[in-house]
Amino acid sequence: MDVDYLIAGQGIAGTLLSYSLLQAGQRVLVIDEYKPNSASRIAAGVINPVSGRRFEMAWMYEQLYPFAVQTYRQLEELLNVPVFKERDLWMALPSEQLRTAFNNKTTQGLASQYTHTADAALWDAWLHQPYGAAIVKGATVLLQHLLPAWRQYLDNKGALWQERLDPDLLQFGQQTPGLQYKGINARAIIFCEGAQIIHNPWFKHIPFLLNKGEVLKVRVPGLDTENIIKKSITMVPQEPETFWVGSTFVWDYPDEAPTPEKRAFLEDGLQQLLKVPYQVLDHQAGVRPSGKDRRPIMGLHPRYPALGLFNGLGTKGCSLAPYMADLLTRHLLQGAPLLPETDIKRYFNE
Ligand SMILES: Cc1cc2nc3c(=O)[nH]c(=O)nc-3n(C[C@H](O)[C@H](O)[C@H](O)COP(=O)(O)OP(=O)(O)OC[C@H]3O[C@@H](n4cnc5c(N)ncnc54)[C@H](O)[C@@H]3O)c2cc1C
Repeated sequence: MDVDYLIAGQGIAGTLLSYSLLQAGQRVLVIDEYKPNSASRIAAGVINPVSGRRFEMAWMYEQLYPFAVQTYRQLEELLNVPVFKERDLWMALPSEQLRTAFNNKTTQGLASQYTHTADAALWDAWLHQPYGAAIVKGATVLLQHLLPAWRQYLDNKGALWQERLDPDLLQFGQQTPGLQYKGINARAIIFCEGAQIIHNPWFKHIPFLLNKGEVLKVRVPGLDTENIIKKSITMVPQEPETFWVGSTFVWDYPDEAPTPEKRAFLEDGLQQLLKVPYQVLDHQAGVRPSGKDRRPIMGLHPRYPALGLFNGLGTKGCSLAPYMADLLTRHLLQGAPLLPETDIKRYFNE
């Protein structure tokens, strides 16, 4: 069997890249070892136009967001499952300082298109919001539908192996370009391994700054909304009355297990936000694959062009993946230039 591209990993990166390559008429084989706590499996899928405590517009949002909407809608049609949902983020402002910052930042410029003031009284029965509230226009990618549906789609096409890819078994042709893996010939392999990239012999020298995040699933009886609710923690609606609650950031951690300390932190955030009781149903942890400069890392290995990387999606995999996968596809097939700040070459300047 021959394919054009092997793809290692089917998180949001491997999903969008395999979709984009298939759309471009390429033959792909995705090799993914199912990991229940991979970043993509435990993420809430939130797309938020403003970020940080200063409410700055997210990097390249004007390009990324329309492309993401279009791509997720196409996937929705192809897979016949809900994949994308525009939602308001109801932001209970946590301090006077942040109320001022929000007002300053969002009454003018780009951010004003995505934000407006809110009547806090609407949620007063449910939420503590002494500093008022604001609305940000965001969205969620329904990863819990998208990832399994895309997996099934690939499987139906014979384009999925559900196992670990061992980079040591890759063989490179002496005369011909490309490589071989367990009898499969391919032009190149693109590693979409998320945080596991640090074990990859070809790319482990890249200074990833992985960070661990913990999340809760909670039930809040009677609270039924389509909105994301945000204060120091974020609540994202799942099934009726149940919410994803996250998340935490830790750069130095002994393992990927959930910890009592971070559960206490998240529950503290919930108690500062909710006026009503809740019940914790689950607690999970996963690791975000962030690059040191918080930009994607993509492209072909400068010395071994049969090896490529699509990684570093950090905290924003859902907004970044569609646009960047498309760019990488055009780079691979037509030699289109990558954005210098995302190009893997920035780590090969010796
Ligand atoms: C707690 C938390 C909350 C988050 N919330 C959001 C959010 O709301 N919005 C947002 O946009 N982003 C969010 N993120 C970030 C987002 O999850 C990541 O940017 C994104 O999931 C990274 O996707 P990925 O495909 O690169 O990696 P992953 O999701 O880790 O996927 C990698 C896949 O590759 C497989 N794999 C690895 N190595 C191999 C191998 N050698 N062989 C076979 N398979 C392999 C793994 O098993 C896995 O299935 C969050 C992350 C965390 C941890």
